[in-house]
Amino acid sequence: MRLFDTHAHLDDGQFREDRDQVVQQARTAGVELIVNVGCDLVSSRQSIALATAYPFIYAAVGIHPHDAANMGSGDWAVLAEMAGHPRVVAIGEIGLDFYRDRSPRPAQQEVFSKQLALARRLKKPVIIHDRDAHGEVMDILKRQAGGLTGVLHCFSGSWEMAQFCLRLGFYISIAGPVTYLNSRQLPEIARKVPRDRLLIETDCPYLTPHPWRGKRNDPSFVRLVAEKVAAVRGEDPAELAWQTLVNGCTLFGIPVPGYDPTTI
Ligand SMILES: [Zn+2]
Ligand SMILES: [Zn+2]
Repeated sequence: MRLFDTHAHLDDGQFREDRDQVVQQARTAGVELIVNVGCDLVSSRQSIALATAYPFIYAAVGIHPHDAANMGSGDWAVLAEMAGHPRVVAIGEIGLDFYRDRSPRPAQQEVFSKQLALARRLKKPVIIHDRDAHGEVMDILKRQAGGLTGVLHCFSGSWEMAQFCLRLGFYISIAGPVTYLNSRQLPEIARKVPRDRLLIETDCPYLTPHPWRGKRNDPSFVRLVAEKVAAVRGEDPAELAWQTLVNGCTLFGIPVPGYDPTTI
């Protein structure tokens, strides 16, 4: 199976002891590409470092809504400079989190909007985090997503919201919760998303798929997401995995591994 984990946090402290081993095991498990996603300036910088160290890891840089309130005026220039790095393929993760509300909502909305503008200016896709803020995320996208593309990562909204995002030209990324035994709505959405707009991810070290819930998540487990999504769609897992890899390459502007355009 050829896999693309489109959303990982390998910079997380949980990988401090064995990061390289985790990366190599993921490769052995068929993970050909990974996007490592930043949440603040520090993790964004670490994402770039990982993407520089490993040719099959790419970086996204951005400020998570949890950290919106910590953004100082001087930090914007730092973020913009990092966003221009050649290994940076997206602005993310950005969005709204009204579940934990770690930053005041007006600050979350302002930082989200500014990063949408940054992405538009740099012509990069966005990776959107939305937790319990579906209506507000759609409102902001309705007003500010013109000229942008991106992905709703770890999608948790309704099918109506998925359709709204698909109409905007966005992708829908499915994470480990699709494998959970009590998951009803998400498998149904994973079944209905058009095949050319579907991505898969781990969001590791969080959201470990069944049957490893409670254990640390890592990119090799994206295979379990691929298998579950393929099962609900009645498709071959390897073909589904391959399709999501190609989709990820299309969205992030990454060459498909093993494909040499000069031979065409
Ligand atoms: Zn997220
Ligand atoms: Zn994440």
